[in-house]
Amino acid sequence: MTVFFIGAGPGDPELITVKGARLVEECPVVLYTGSLVPKEVVARAHKEALVLSSEDMDLDQIIQVCVDADAKGLDVARVQTGDLSIYSSLAETTRRLDDLNLDWKVVPGVSSFQASAAALGQELTLPEQCQTIILSRASGRTPVPEKENLKSLAAHEATMCLFLSATLIRKVARELKEVYPGNWPVAVVEKASHPEERIIRGTLDDIVEKVEAAGIRSTAMIIVSKVLNQTEFRDSRLYASEFSHGFRRGNKEEEVI
Ligand code: SAH
Repeated sequence: MTVFFIGAGPGDPELITVKGARLVEECPVVLYTGSLVPKEVVARAHKEALVLSSEDMDLDQIIQVCVDADAKGLDVARVQTGDLSIYSSLAETTRRLDDLNLDWKVVPGVSSFQASAAALGQELTLPEQCQTIILSRASGRTPVPEKENLKSLAAHEATMCLFLSATLIRKVARELKEVYPGNWPVAVVEKASHPEERIIRGTLDDIVEKVEAAGIRSTAMIIVSKVLNQTEFRDSRLYASEFSHGFRRGNKEEEVI
């Protein structure tokens, strides 16, 4: 028996991996995280499968579903939004499964930061200008370690994708303005890849007003980066004629990543 933790993707039911979809179809027990996992994904389950929402369950109850399935020798598909590597409670769940000697595996998914970048049509890195992406959140009721405070992260001028922070947009803008000028670009993507997706573009100076006027409060990604709307950058070396790499020979013998 195995518990498969499956990233369901950001909302569009077609944005689950082929492997994740197959496992949802095959597992006799499907345990999904409430409203954010698309209904169409869960609808793939076998008609005789036990399909449960974990919306009203605590960790003990989730573990109990796995224990009961194990007693019957049944695999479990644990389906969660986005990818399991980011704010998913994977660690606390697998720690409990390990204590019980239950087998588990993780199937990656498309994260909402990727779907948000796709909605914006935006590469989050740009040659010579920004080569790092920071995935984080603002500190609110859930504390963030002091060493990871937004101001210190901003010092890198890396692209910043902030999860779970839409209601904290005022605080985010205030703290980042201590490091960046007010015209620093920000985009907020609500429900990326859902039919009701909305995109708000602005700057640190006006984003709060725009987000509040739009009434965005949850399921939104805040992306803060100089790469947004940036057109002044060099071509990458990837397609440059004077370079060669793995599959393509150029004029010079040099490997480009
Ligand atoms: N593991 C998930 C993140 C879970 S935390 C992932 O990889 O995407 C929940 C946060 O993710 C939300 O507060 C929001 O910031 C973001 N989020 C989830 N789905 C989203 C979507 N479709 N569009 C924009 N942000 C989303």
